[in-house]
Amino acid sequence: MVTALEHQAILDLPKTELHIHIEGTLEPELALELAARNGITLPWSTLEELRAQYDFVNLQSFLDLYYQLMSTLRTAQDFRDLMLAYLEHAHHDGIRHAEIFFDPQVHINNGLEFDTVMDGLLEGLSIGRERYGITGGLIACIVRDLPVTSAMDTLKALESRREDLLGIGLDSAEVGYPPSLFTEVFSRARELGLHVVAHAGEEGPASYVIEALDQLQVERIDHGIRCSDDQDLMHRLASSDIALTSCPLSNRRLQVVQDLRELPLHQFLEGGIRVTVNSDDPAYFGGYLAANYEALIDSGYSLRECAAFCRNGIEASFIGNRRQAVLFEEYERWCAQYLNE
Ligand SMILES: [Zn+2]
Repeated sequence: MVTALEHQAILDLPKTELHIHIEGTLEPELALELAARNGITLPWSTLEELRAQYDFVNLQSFLDLYYQLMSTLRTAQDFRDLMLAYLEHAHHDGIRHAEIFFDPQVHINNGLEFDTVMDGLLEGLSIGRERYGITGGLIACIVRDLPVTSAMDTLKALESRREDLLGIGLDSAEVGYPPSLFTEVFSRARELGLHVVAHAGEEGPASYVIEALDQLQVERIDHGIRCSDDQDLMHRLASSDIALTSCPLSNRRLQVVQDLRELPLHQFLEGGIRVTVNSDDPAYFGGYLAANYEALIDSGYSLRECAAFCRNGIEASFIGNRRQAVLFEEYERWCAQYLNE
């Protein structure tokens, strides 16, 4: 059980969120509203019918619903509303900075212009920054189960908006789509001066993490839970600045683990690995960021360990030194208040 003091401490912790898919914040209520607004017919007409679809058995069963609901997003206003809905949750949860994934290929395949998506998301971010003081940026993810040529075309399409992007990521179905397929795409993204990150080691093996590091030269690994299968990789991560963006409630909902006690996060911290806590697709996985931290406390993690996840998140963000320094100051005050340090 999380105590009232722990609950408040988690809310007050100056958290960053580095692994969040904006499309994964699409709550069923908003999906139905957008479908009605845009004249789209979904197979489910009531909230109850739609909610009943959320009982996933693995990553693919989640992705099937995820992509179907993404088709309700049609206009810049839809993307702005989606971003604002997320930032309202983020503000409630005490998030100070968010680096937010989106899937341009899926929206382009749905017939949208890249600029429509970008303009809506950026407007939402800008309103959210003013309203809540949350800083952030966008990371365009390559969908790995679409053809590599499509990834290259997407990269070309986003070149003209390079200044509006923090970086490039790699997401979607993992097994059977090793990072090495995208070596050229990531090389070009790095030439453009974009930060590079990739999902690896969620359902796929530790060897995918090694490929992402060696061939894509990523700065962060999204998930990376399977790194604990490979001691050499653990040592390598510990002696580098590479962070892992772990998402506990996602791992449990997609049955990567049955119980959060099976997650190797203690092991990562003890091994000196820069592991962070994030919410992934919170509308689908049962909780936003504070709920992820609280679920860890419920599974035996201490407030001190939660503080370490938070500090790692500030360190691993692409936030810039000035904002980082502000958050570290806030973090030190939090430690004085809640850990008596
Ligand atoms: Zn993810």
